[in-house]
Amino acid sequence: MAYIRGAWSLIAGLSVTLREFFKPVVTSSTPASCLDISPGFAAIRKLIAEKGSPEKVACTACLICVKSCPSASIQKVEGEKREGEKRKTATTYILNFTTCSQCGICVEVCPFDALAFSADFNIVGYKREDCYFDLVKEFERGRTQDERAEIIFLIIALTTMGGAVMAILSGSIIYAMIGLVTTMFGIAGLYVYLNSPFLAMMQILIYVALLPS
Ligand code: SF4
Ligand code: SF4
Repeated sequence: MAYIRGAWSLIAGLSVTLREFFKPVVTSSTPASCLDISPGFAAIRKLIAEKGSPEKVACTACLICVKSCPSASIQKVEGEKREGEKRKTATTYILNFTTCSQCGICVEVCPFDALAFSADFNIVGYKREDCYFDLVKEFERGRTQDERAEIIFLIIALTTMGGAVMAILSGSIIYAMIGLVTTMFGIAGLYVYLNSPFLAMMQILIYVALLPS
């Protein structure tokens, strides 16, 4: 009788685990990944690229937002007129986020739709100055990060495909093995790139176990 009760308790416990296992994930392993931020979420302002020129901010340094800000949080906006262009392009846009009340007036009044709320909720710092941002520099940093991410993805994808082609077409068992291992690590790299280190690890472990010893 004690055995039956023990087995039943085990089944009941495992059924709870199994039920939870198949439920949608509601947590995230921050900071490696975070939940999708709602499109309506309003965090610190960001500068937007000009239409048709992704490398350039749409801000013309007209100063309307500076004059409209009730908290005087936009401390400095400067721009320069580049050759062949009719308007200025912002080169500096200093926002003091410590005094910003998130009222959104600057976004509303901008005649060039150059400002928007970002989804960057994770702003931290050790001192007040850590919350002073040059939005032009932030824009450029974002672009560099995007480009870097694209290059990394391209390198991993090409290496993976190269390994697969080598494994299929090579007449030598040694080269075929090298191609296979390259593909295996390439796919693991793609999982890491997609913030899934667990899948990357499983990918390596499973295929290493399947390799002929
Ligand atoms: S959101 Fe409001 S307080 Fe903040 S910078 Fe814009 S206008 Fe100023
Ligand atoms: S963000 Fe808009 S309103 Fe502010 S300076 Fe730039 S163009 Fe003018």
